Amino acid sequence: MLDFIDINKTELNDYKTVSKQAHAYAKNASDTDPFIIKAREKAREKLNNAILPNGKIAWSKLPNLITSNTKLKKDVLGLSNDLEIFGLSLAPHYVSGYNTCNGLSIGCANLCLMFTGHGQKFMVDCNGNHNVAIARIIRTFLWFEYREQFKARLLHELKLKYNLLKSKNIDLAFRPNVFSEQKFELLFTELFHFCNEYNIPMYDYVKDIKRIINNPFKKFYHMTYSLSENNSLFIPTALKHGCNIAVVIDTPVKDAKPKQLTINGITLDVINGDAHDARFTDSPNKYIALSGKGLDAKNDNTNFIRKV
Ligand code: SF4
Repeated sequence: MLDFIDINKTELNDYKTVSKQAHAYAKNASDTDPFIIKAREKAREKLNNAILPNGKIAWSKLPNLITSNTKLKKDVLGLSNDLEIFGLSLAPHYVSGYNTCNGLSIGCANLCLMFTGHGQKFMVDCNGNHNVAIARIIRTFLWFEYREQFKARLLHELKLKYNLLKSKNIDLAFRPNVFSEQKFELLFTELFHFCNEYNIPMYDYVKDIKRIINNPFKKFYHMTYSLSENNSLFIPTALKHGCNIAVVIDTPVKDAKPKQLTINGITLDVINGDAHDARFTDSPNKYIALSGKGLDAKNDNTNFIRKV
C-alpha cells in the first residue's frame, strides 16, 4: 500500500476512474488525428530505412536522441559555470502509438508542449512533413523496439556532449522526459549511474505520484510534481517527498507575481517557472508557476490551466 497523505479511498478511486477515461481519450485522439497518422507513417519509413540487414541501426540516418533544451548563463542562477541543459524528447502520450505518459490527464494531453514552439502543427517542410514530430516519434519507436541499442546510443551521445561542454567549461544537466513520463529510473538505470559518475544533475516534471514516492535516485534525480486538472489530491504527498508543485496558470508569470498561490487549501510561495527550466536549482516547498503556452491554451475548458 502506497503512503498517500490525506487521501481517502473514494478520492483515490475517483482519480483512477478519471485517469482511465483520460487514457482512452488520448489514445483515440491520437489514433484518429490525420497529422499524427501521417507523422507516424513517415517515422516508420525513416526508421525502416535505417535498419541494416543484421538488425543494427545506422544512426547517421536518424535524428540525434538528445537535443539541447536551454542554455543558461552562470549569473542567472549564481552558478560557478554556464549551464547547458540537454533532454530526450520522445512523443507524448499515445502520439507514437505507444503510451509514454502514465500520469496524463485530458487537459495535459490536449495542451502538451509537444505541439508548441517548434512542435506547432503548421511548421511543416515543403513536402508537408513535420520533422520535429517525426523525430520524436522515431525516438519513441527506438525506445520501445530497439531498447539496448537505444540505451548504448544515448549514453554515447551524452558522453560526447559532456566532453565537448567540459572543454568549454560549461556544465551539463539532463532532462530525460521532455515530453513523456517514462520510468527511466527503473528501466534505464545505466543512465542514472552515468550521470551520477559525471556529476550531471537530472530533473523532470512528474505527474505520476508513484514515481515520486519510489524515486530510487533522490539525491541527483530532482522531481517537480506537475499539476493537472485531476491530480491535486496528491499535493501533500508530493510535498512530503520534498517536491515542489508545478502549476500552469492563466496569467503571465512575472517576477513577483503571483507571490503566493493557494490550491486545495495549501498556500505556498511562488517561483516563476518561466524564468528558466533548471528546476533542480529551485528552493523547496514552492509552487512553480508557468504560464499557459500554445495556441490552444486560451480554449482550455478542463481546468488544466488554473484561473488565478
Ligand atoms: S504527462 Fe506531460 S508529456 Fe505527457 S501528455 Fe501530459 S503534459 Fe504532455
